[in-house]
Amino acid sequence: MEIVFNNVTHIYNPKTPLAKKALDKVNLTIQDKMINGIIGKSGSGKTTLLEMMNALILPTTGNIKIDKYTIKKNHKIKDINEIRFKVGVVLSSPEEQFFNATVYDEIAFGMKSFKYRLDKIKEHVANALLMVGLDNSYLERDPFTLSNGEKRKVALASVLAYNPEVVVLDEPTMGLDDKSKKNLWRIIRTLKTRYHKTIVLVTKDIDMLHKIVDNVIVMHDGKVVMEGNKYDVFKEEFKLNEYGVKAPKIISFSNKVLEAKDIKIGYRDEINDLIKDIYRYVK
Ligand code: ADP
Ligand code: MG
Repeated sequence: MEIVFNNVTHIYNPKTPLAKKALDKVNLTIQDKMINGIIGKSGSGKTTLLEMMNALILPTTGNIKIDKYTIKKNHKIKDINEIRFKVGVVLSSPEEQFFNATVYDEIAFGMKSFKYRLDKIKEHVANALLMVGLDNSYLERDPFTLSNGEKRKVALASVLAYNPEVVVLDEPTMGLDDKSKKNLWRIIRTLKTRYHKTIVLVTKDIDMLHKIVDNVIVMHDGKVVMEGNKYDVFKEEFKLNEYGVKAPKIISFSNKVLEAKDIKIGYRDEINDLIKDIYRYVK
């Protein structure tokens, strides 16, 4: 499912001394069935942009087209409920979205509100838990007593469980250990390749993002300043640095070789492929 931002501005606390323009005339298309990565330094508007994708925050001006719906300042409640069923957002602080006494109820919550049958709910809870790598012993736990990483997993499971067409993730690997991070990147890739989801992902983990992302969006000061195919965006190292973000190391390496030796080895996702290219070149 495509999501199209048309000239979207968002102002927090409008018409007060605390007014803050967090998004400034954003035009953007989130591409259907692709992994869309959003990067940019802290405060650039990434979270605000994400939270607009399921109407947690509404545009001050402009509109967002999602499926057959248009989100504007004045919206229909019914539309918003339907949009939330299609677009699942996992926030960066998982506690913000917990309000049930057990992990089971937390994961089942979305499905209950979308009127799933009880046997379906049980089946989906079990599957979602399995996908994020937690076992059944967690079902009766109080979500607030979990570790940070476990909370993130439960928050993700509660979205995966009701099977939205678009999965939106705000810094999902923050606070995870290396093994859980790896597992999460694998899940994200699977969501795209096997389940054909549209993914929107904010992360600071540029090297991992590069391996799986299709389309990259760079935010700066509430504006989309770069957007496109990952190689086209990531190879512009100098520009990225100006916006406070780094290029992936593997891209940076290709750029350095090009600069120093004037050897154009091209861009790769995996270091092994790059090494093969170099051998081929020097032979
Ligand atoms: P990012 O996720 O890229 O760090 P945010 O979207 O969270 O950026 O924030 C964009 C800007 O909006 C920042 O200047 C931030 O301080 C401000 N902002 C975010 N949330 C609020 C809020 N609830 N009230 C006022 N200002 C906010
Ligand atoms: Mg943020």
